[in-house]
Amino acid sequence: KKNVIAIIGRPNVGKSSLFNRVIKEKKAIIEDRPGVTRDRIYGSADWLTRDFIVIDTGGITLENATFAKEIKLQAEIAMAEADVIVFVVNHQEGLLPDDEMIAKLLYKTKKPVILAVNKYDRKMNQDETYHYLTLGFGEPFLISSTHGIGIGDLLDEIIHKL
Ligand code: GDP
Ligand code: MG
Repeated sequence: KKNVIAIIGRPNVGKSSLFNRVIKEKKAIIEDRPGVTRDRIYGSADWLTRDFIVIDTGGITLENATFAKEIKLQAEIAMAEADVIVFVVNHQEGLLPDDEMIAKLLYKTKKPVILAVNKYDRKMNQDETYHYLTLGFGEPFLISSTHGIGIGDLLDEIIHKL
């Protein structure tokens, strides 16, 4: 059975951009519960000698639900289905209360969680990133999904945690 990587984070952090950067092909739409849409969320990817499945949990949406309910469902699916979870935050907006809400949901899992700080388009002073440690997932991986920065190091870590 192939390993599964789930990407989670609040809207607009760049989950789909990261997903699109690492997958080779898009998989079918799967709908398995009423009111729940799973729109093109599965992709297959490989890195070095490993093949794995990537899930963009942002594509799992709930009709007429609050963000809190929707993110809880996304986190539950990530924690149930994934071997490694990639938690994405947005360096341009910084940490917001919703990021802390997601962090708290992810504390419930024993699975490895890798923190990725996306939209890190330019190298900056180290001081600007140390506060991400407060989320509790260790040193963040600084990436730019649209510019392709730091993606190789992130994939190395994913493989390492599998
Ligand atoms: P999602 O809602 O988390 O899936 O976020 P998207 O992948 O749809 O990205 C939201 C917006 O952020 C889009 O306009 C992307 O082009 C942009 N974006 C994503 N990654 C980066 C990045 O690394 N740098 C910059 N500058 N923009 C990005
Ligand atoms: Mg998206």
